[in-house]
Amino acid sequence: MSPSRTTAATDAADGQLVAREAAALLPTYGRQPVAFASGHGPWLVDTAGNEHLDFVSGLAVTNLGHAHPEVADAVAEQARRLAHTSNLYYTEPQIALAERLQATLGWPDGQAFFANSGAEANEAALKLARRYGKSRDDAKVRVVALSGGFHGRTLATLAATVCAVWLEVVQGEAGVRPLRADVLAAARAACDRHDALLVVDEVQTGLGRLGSWYGFQQPVGESGVTPEAAGERVAPDVVCLAKALANGLPIGAMVARGEATKAFGPGDHASTFGGQPVVCAAANTVIDVIQRDGLVAAAAERGAPLRARLDRLAVDHDDVVAARGQGLLQALVLADARAEEVVAAALDRHLIVNAVAPGVVRLSPPLIVDESLTDRAVEGLTAALDDVRHEPRARG
Ligand SMILES: *Cc1c(COP(=O)(O)O)cnc(C)c1O
Repeated sequence: MSPSRTTAATDAADGQLVAREAAALLPTYGRQPVAFASGHGPWLVDTAGNEHLDFVSGLAVTNLGHAHPEVADAVAEQARRLAHTSNLYYTEPQIALAERLQATLGWPDGQAFFANSGAEANEAALKLARRYGKSRDDAKVRVVALSGGFHGRTLATLAATVCAVWLEVVQGEAGVRPLRADVLAAARAACDRHDALLVVDEVQTGLGRLGSWYGFQQPVGESGVTPEAAGERVAPDVVCLAKALANGLPIGAMVARGEATKAFGPGDHASTFGGQPVVCAAANTVIDVIQRDGLVAAAAERGAPLRARLDRLAVDHDDVVAARGQGLLQALVLADARAEEVVAAALDRHLIVNAVAPGVVRLSPPLIVDESLTDRAVEGLTAALDDVRHEPRARG
């Protein structure tokens, strides 16, 4: 990766876009100084024609890479046949997707509700959990969610008014923080004790990213204690999915199993677009491709050497404290709050990574990367760290 500093050239090419956006859009986003026009596989192409190695994947969304031909064909074919009917009617692609989710979760009794985003999937789960709680006790409507400084002990003191415990197996946006396996087991035990639902938000971790279909299916955390070793078989009652499910088309899904499925009946929840045929056709293809190409195992196989190189970097580089994460969701923890500067320096080198905390840089490449690309990313990141050290940038 040569430090060709083409971002300036891209800026020049996109001066018009920047001006048009400023005049036409509300300024809710602090954007990186680059505009992308196309993509293929793990590469994004900017409007000046430069290729960038994409280790963000549209926030862990484009797990099969950009412009995947089979997904594109599935979308085009379905759009030509039937794009939308609303949920007043039966459509086969939605049912087929729910069946695929049952199969990948290993939940033959799993039942899905489809929405259009991760937030909506969580909202549906919240509504389900509250109804479940109320069916037991009118006051059973509280939800316990884990904050950054969570400790297993909190679960021992849960009140009987909790209808659900909510957690992520690896907290993605909070800085790529893996949950300790014994905490997951403790959460399951607490939910069983209080007849509450264990809801796992797999919006970012689901569908192979961690090296298993779902994050809850594998040993997690830094303690080295697996749920199995702890004598517990940990499975949630509800999972929420979104990001990678349709490789870039907007979708959200909540899947419940067992008693939790009884909390919803006709009319209890709805979405105009949720589970519509085009998005479901894309998602069905995504799951088929992941299965056919062995991308879940690939994420584990690529994740291990990537993590080993990041661990090495943490030892060798003064500005890096540690690496953490699982599978192909990894992060570098920096000594200082300079993640944004490292991200900018990496962009100059045509490597796309993002900051999830002031001192944490996240890597979430598509599951199709090979080891030469993960090596290349670590080299780009190392160079970016050196750039930042030797040429301190002005913020802003
Ligand atoms: C991204 C994300 C969400 C929100 O998803 P949206 O599609 O942006 O609504 C929820 N939970 C987790 C774990 C996420 O990573």
